[in-house]
Amino acid sequence: MSAAGAGRARPQGFPFTAVVGMDELQLALVLAAVSPAIGGVLIRGEKGTAKSTAVRALTEVLPDVEVVSCCRFSCDPAAPDPACPDGPHDSAESPADVSAGTPAHVSAGTPVAAEPRPARLVELPVGATEDRVLGSLHLERALAEGVTVYEPGLLAAANRGLLYVDEVNLLHDHLVDVLLDAAAMGRATVERDGVSVTHPARFVLVGTMNPEEGELRPQLLDRFGLTVDVAASRDPGVRVEVMKARLAYEADPAGFVSRYDGPQRELAERIVKAQNLLPDVILTDAALRQIAEICAAFGVDGMRADLVTARTAVAHAAWSGRTVVEVADVRAAARLALPHRKRRNPFDTPGLDEEQLEQAIADSTPPDQDPDDDPDGGPGGGGPGETGPSDAGDPGTPAPAPENGNDQRKNGPGEVATASQPYRARLLSVPAAGAGVAGRRSRALTDAGRVVGDRPRAVGERGRPHLLPTLRTAAPHQRARGRTGAGLDVRPSDVRLAVREGREGNLVLFCVDASGSMGTRKRMAEVKTAVVSLLLDAYQRRDTVGLVTFAGTGATVALPPTSSVETAVRRLEELPTGGRTPLAEGLLQAAEVLRIAAIRDPRRRPLLVVVTDGRATAGQDAFARAQRAAARLAGRVATVVVDCEPHRGVRLGLAAELAAVLRAEHLDLGDVAAGNLIRAVNERKVA
Ligand SMILES: [Zn+2]
Repeated sequence: MSAAGAGRARPQGFPFTAVVGMDELQLALVLAAVSPAIGGVLIRGEKGTAKSTAVRALTEVLPDVEVVSCCRFSCDPAAPDPACPDGPHDSAESPADVSAGTPAHVSAGTPVAAEPRPARLVELPVGATEDRVLGSLHLERALAEGVTVYEPGLLAAANRGLLYVDEVNLLHDHLVDVLLDAAAMGRATVERDGVSVTHPARFVLVGTMNPEEGELRPQLLDRFGLTVDVAASRDPGVRVEVMKARLAYEADPAGFVSRYDGPQRELAERIVKAQNLLPDVILTDAALRQIAEICAAFGVDGMRADLVTARTAVAHAAWSGRTVVEVADVRAAARLALPHRKRRNPFDTPGLDEEQLEQAIADSTPPDQDPDDDPDGGPGGGGPGETGPSDAGDPGTPAPAPENGNDQRKNGPGEVATASQPYRARLLSVPAAGAGVAGRRSRALTDAGRVVGDRPRAVGERGRPHLLPTLRTAAPHQRARGRTGAGLDVRPSDVRLAVREGREGNLVLFCVDASGSMGTRKRMAEVKTAVVSLLLDAYQRRDTVGLVTFAGTGATVALPPTSSVETAVRRLEELPTGGRTPLAEGLLQAAEVLRIAAIRDPRRRPLLVVVTDGRATAGQDAFARAQRAAARLAGRVATVVVDCEPHRGVRLGLAAELAAVLRAEHLDLGDVAAGNLIRAVNERKVA
């Protein structure tokens, strides 16, 4: 029996089996552990839902991993990585599989010493540097001893274990790319500072995020096999159980944990059984066809959804102790694998519509009807390509139309103009470099990104030395320090750190004219499309967005600053237009929103985008008041005026005038689309 806990000290973490009210999350984690090929779990939910507790508790019910002794990359003794930097490790199965060019530190012929190691959960902090994640040259030893030593990073530690990223949506882009590469290749590659290393990095990726704090890049979202939306239960009975467990644990951790010894051991044994059963589970052609039909019904992109659903159904069957995939397995798999893949639009509400799922299952061909269809069809056999969604009848029929998707082209009746297909917006940015939160809009001084300079390392500060400046600082003192050997005498006071510049996320506040002066519904639809495109851009750059609208008698904060771009899009979609144009009120309201935002989050620099034709018609002195409001804002916040005045007929040029008073960038509505202007806003001088 290789279940966790046999013969080693019991960890005192909160037991996995004591977690209450998170059945779906626990199931997703267990299935991902049973079958790492599923590709990990993304957990979405508000703060305070004990997402992290459940994740951290998982390792305690996972079986030990058999590893090559002393290999820092956790090579499997049965099949060690031929290019392992700590290798080559001899193995009975693959004696001659050492690729050319691998530095042989270990003499060939040494028998592999193996040992069991507890399953590992490696946490990747959101603010980690690339060096920490990928590993790097041990610079201080390189300088002092003249040796090239590679220090493995977090990806090496996570090999054959779990890699956990809390607040994965806040991860710097740079690290997202590193993660995506490793996840796609199952390897990490480091090529710099004289180090050239590639090592295995296969891990189950687990991420948690609070969607209100910003969405995930679509490529990264797609990398997660399963998603679970968690929310604190509304059921008082469940809430009582949650509190009871938590209080009992805090009062006496050891006693609490020991009470769960039995359930923990049972779960650990069941996971091992499921892992062993996994290769024997049969996925019939009929089951594959049902999966393909369901995926088609939900209108998913590409083939990844089908593959993940199939793998998850197989894992679920093994978990249930069965060797043939049934409808129950397909249903459980679809619930976990499809929510984040169901539509193209990133702004749809999360979760899977249960009714739609049941309808899709009812409409599909059940696998149980003809289980003898393909007795040889295992999970590795017969690709699902032969049962592609294309032959499932008319693919357009079962998919319901999005209720408020912004890709609707037809013009419905009513005064609410509908935005059409958004386009890639050009980059609007805040000039000069800030020191803001990680993001992708304006230039900022951050701990990741391009090196722009160096500085001394403070006493007690951690950080990897920046090579050349450190050498330059140490070199002149060598004689005085009495150096005689080959190595360089480097003192802590010599160490210089890199100063890096990345991009920061901003607060983008839209101030949108929704009055009758904005002309026809068609014109307003163009305006909405432009703003939706800018919002999409904000979504990808992880900005905070806000929306102020003005029409009729005053201005409205349609959306206070938030990272939920989907809410902004919805508010914009619902925005009615008409009436007079209280431009001054709009600008003053925007100024007030910015004032409060600056108090709440002073590091996040604002960008104000005023979308207007420049007319002000609310009251006799409307124009003068607008001019005064603009003058008050002028120069205090980076501003872009998107000019919505039509090109036909006499042009008044009022928006251009407003831009001048605001000391703002003036941009024609037609130029919001990327590529229409080559000039980059972020290169311009501070006004
Ligand atoms: Zn190894």
